[in-house]
Amino acid sequence: MDNFSPARTYAQSLDQADPLAAFRARFSHPQPSLRYMDGNSLGKLPLKTIDVLEQAVRDQWGGELIRGWNQGWWEAPQRIGDKIGQLVGAAPGQVALCDSTSVNLFKLANTALMLRPGRKKIISDTLNFPSDLYILQGAIHTLQKGHSLHLVGSQDEDLTPDLQSLYEAIDEDTALVTLSHVVFKSGYLYDMAEITRRAHQKGALVLWDLSHSAGVFPVELDACEADLAIGCTYKYLNGGPGAPAFLYVNNRLQQQAVSPIWGWAGQDKPFNFALEYTPTPGIRRFVAGTPHVLSSLAVESGVEISLEAGMPAIREKSIRMTEYFIRLGEALLTEYQFRVGSPREAHLRGGHVSLRHPEGYRINRALIDDMEVIPDFREPDNIRFGFAPLYTSYEEIWETVERLRIVMEEKRFTRYSQAKATVT
Ligand SMILES: *Cc1c(COP(=O)(O)O)cnc(C)c1O
Repeated sequence: MDNFSPARTYAQSLDQADPLAAFRARFSHPQPSLRYMDGNSLGKLPLKTIDVLEQAVRDQWGGELIRGWNQGWWEAPQRIGDKIGQLVGAAPGQVALCDSTSVNLFKLANTALMLRPGRKKIISDTLNFPSDLYILQGAIHTLQKGHSLHLVGSQDEDLTPDLQSLYEAIDEDTALVTLSHVVFKSGYLYDMAEITRRAHQKGALVLWDLSHSAGVFPVELDACEADLAIGCTYKYLNGGPGAPAFLYVNNRLQQQAVSPIWGWAGQDKPFNFALEYTPTPGIRRFVAGTPHVLSSLAVESGVEISLEAGMPAIREKSIRMTEYFIRLGEALLTEYQFRVGSPREAHLRGGHVSLRHPEGYRINRALIDDMEVIPDFREPDNIRFGFAPLYTSYEEIWETVERLRIVMEEKRFTRYSQAKATVT
């Protein structure tokens, strides 16, 4: 980006040189003037998914009825899990598509604690998605084994974690270290290999939440010797609202790892209807109940587009887009007191960028209600801009910053109330 210019024509030249530009046409854009900067919260609809779901409803459900279970429905969690595995660096047989991210975290956190009996400490950080911390608190409460949750803080207002404190906290009493690979507010990106290595040195397991990295960063679970992971499919994987999530258990743990939810879909021979539970070998034991067929097929359709584009190209464009956004903000928004709430170094940053401003909430409202720009707001002052390499164009980023400049110049945010809406 050496020849950077704040002109619109520069954005157009980046689009012309973009090797992923053609993928934009594979998604639904019913409102052409909308600048959607929230693909990190809910990805856009792939056009192919409309046909996939229509066919699944009409022909598979409508036509096959119960026979559908023998035509790919029953194996969907593993088949689609393996496709997700290709995006997150996991060899086949280690990823399953099932349940929600929250439920999968509960399952795998329990599994980890069972694999490290006697150890009482769970480590996470204050940058983590609060729901992840609730789930850990709930697991401790349910187990009643005297576990405690140790949260590592931040010394720069939640931009980055205090790594030194994290390394010092991991000790011989630590059962589990669990972190969001890319943190949801600032977009800080953990060094998965390094954290995993440090945890293993002390005999602890690591559970990664990939919700904000799967589909935008080339995660390498196997190469990092990761133990456990979970992640979301409705963000950068474009699986649709409420789509089932995924979980990863490394092969070397699968023999001893048991889910805390002993359901029949993870039973060894489910159709024998035996009265005693025997976990089936492999990742399938973590699938508790009947697979979510329709929504899983939508996930498969979204994941296939990312596979086709390839993670290296996706990451390269992601870095260029976040870099471009930061540079453009510095050029066009200097007088409005924004602070970049994300790491400047590309290797420490995921796929979104936060701009912080004391009036963040109302600025975000003005962008959505007045300017046809959709970012989102995260307390206390973060406006998050998510860039989806498969369908966000550089010219859209240019227009987003330009419309933000207009909101500030004309003080349009002052027309909005400070009272918060339910979903921000
Ligand atoms: C989006 C997200 C979740 C979502 O969990 P659900 O069970 O789908 O509500 C969990 N963790 C992180 C870090 C997320 O970003």
